[in-house]
Amino acid sequence: FSYPLPANEPVLNYAPGSKERENLKAALALLKGEKLDVPMYIGADEVRTSKKESLRPPHEHKFVLGQFSIGEKKHVQQAVDAAVGAKRSWEAMSWESRAGIFLKAADLIATKYRGQMNAATMLGQSKNAYQAEIDSACELIDFLRFNVHFLSEIYTQQPISGAGMHNRLEYRPLEGFVLAITPFNFTAIGGNLPTSAAMCGNVVVWKPAHTQIYSAQLFMRILKEAGLPDGVINLIYVDGPVVGEVCFNHREFAGVHFTGSTGVFNHMWETIGKNIPKYRSYPRIVGETGGKDFVMVHRSADPGVVATALLRGAFEFQGQKCSAASRAYIPSNIWKEVKKLLIEGVNSFKMGSVEDFSNFINAVIDERSFDKIKGYIDKAKRDSKASIVVGGTCDKKEGYFIQPTVIETKDPQYVTMCEEIFGPVLTVYVYPAGSFEKTLDLVDSTSPYALTGSIIATDRAAIETATKRLSNAAGNFYINDKPTGAVVGQQPFGGARASGTNDKAGSILNLYRWLSVRTVKETF
Ligand code: GLU
Repeated sequence: FSYPLPANEPVLNYAPGSKERENLKAALALLKGEKLDVPMYIGADEVRTSKKESLRPPHEHKFVLGQFSIGEKKHVQQAVDAAVGAKRSWEAMSWESRAGIFLKAADLIATKYRGQMNAATMLGQSKNAYQAEIDSACELIDFLRFNVHFLSEIYTQQPISGAGMHNRLEYRPLEGFVLAITPFNFTAIGGNLPTSAAMCGNVVVWKPAHTQIYSAQLFMRILKEAGLPDGVINLIYVDGPVVGEVCFNHREFAGVHFTGSTGVFNHMWETIGKNIPKYRSYPRIVGETGGKDFVMVHRSADPGVVATALLRGAFEFQGQKCSAASRAYIPSNIWKEVKKLLIEGVNSFKMGSVEDFSNFINAVIDERSFDKIKGYIDKAKRDSKASIVVGGTCDKKEGYFIQPTVIETKDPQYVTMCEEIFGPVLTVYVYPAGSFEKTLDLVDSTSPYALTGSIIATDRAAIETATKRLSNAAGNFYINDKPTGAVVGQQPFGGARASGTNDKAGSILNLYRWLSVRTVKETF
């Protein structure tokens, strides 16, 4: 049987004076007082080392939330051993029992830990309450519940049989262990990458970005409370190259589930390629990498719709989404009006700590990120090819604050139109009347990425032309909307070209990658 399609977890609104807001404030206070000494979770052990690093809110970087232990090579080895050791009993467990663990974890987040998961994401990653709610509550819960549904659908798919014979497919996990490498920007991705593989019967070594550890360790504890057996997912905090050195040289390495930069993904792919003879099977390499996501506007567009798509698409969570709008192509006939709305919009945003719920903009993740983003803004201030429309102030004294910034350029190949910045920076190229189709070619050819993009128009022929011409320019294509905010079960997420393997997170397609099918024919 297949599990019924779940409903998406409703988004709570945390209105002033609401019970939800009070609960969330209590969770924030609780977490700020905890001063956790966060361990790695390897097999049945909580492992702490003498090498510690502190956990600090990006918007208040002098405040210490707690600390975590940095592991070394031997801990990666221990995690792999624990995973491989847990494999036999995990894959022998009935599918219904495995599913029960992940469904219970989803319920625990929805009811008991929602406040804490959101508070951890707010404090650790500087997401405001709304951005945390759609990530560490709703999307994470959805990933768990929908993946159980999708996987149960896969298990029911069987081939035809004929007279004197019976055919069946056995959906086995991969032989070996899976490595999950997860980014800071979505707690839900951190949850999805290890659990989607584990749900299929795989065992996992999970390495989150150091800037995601605060929410990741809480999710790990929730999985344990839900009954996840020791060793099925092992959470380690070790530098990427050290993790790679152990995992990519291991005979039992069966696949990697990755979200992160294109550069790291390329390097991993090369290393794995060179090591092929060492492995038992060809590893599954599944990755979602960078983006340089576009908003293409037609002259028939409503300027208000364009401005909202840009303000939300480019600046929510400080633009730190792989899907964030970062280059816009706007026709000259509506630019004046759109520009006015962008300036008004940016000037109306409040920026500051997540603990003041009226702040729409919070901090970027860390100092390295701050410096990189500021570098692009400073360059635009100096360059004759660019001008700052609005924004452009940066201040890292208390927290890593960068004001949402709109750059205008006359050069469609200007550096901020081409390179991924991963911050609250939007670049606009105003294209002349009569060059809609030429500009579509520009949108398609300017960036090596192909993650998300939007067309904004009321003219149906323009929508049709753009949808066809940009067929390969984005794995997630939005008509009259911002290019962010994919919902599990509604818009499977991922892109091709330099944006990854397009294995669509939150869909049945992704789960197939963590299964290795045996076809069995019996004759009578
Ligand atoms: N799924 C997210 C969205 O649609 C983006 C995920 C990411 O940044 O990797 O906005």
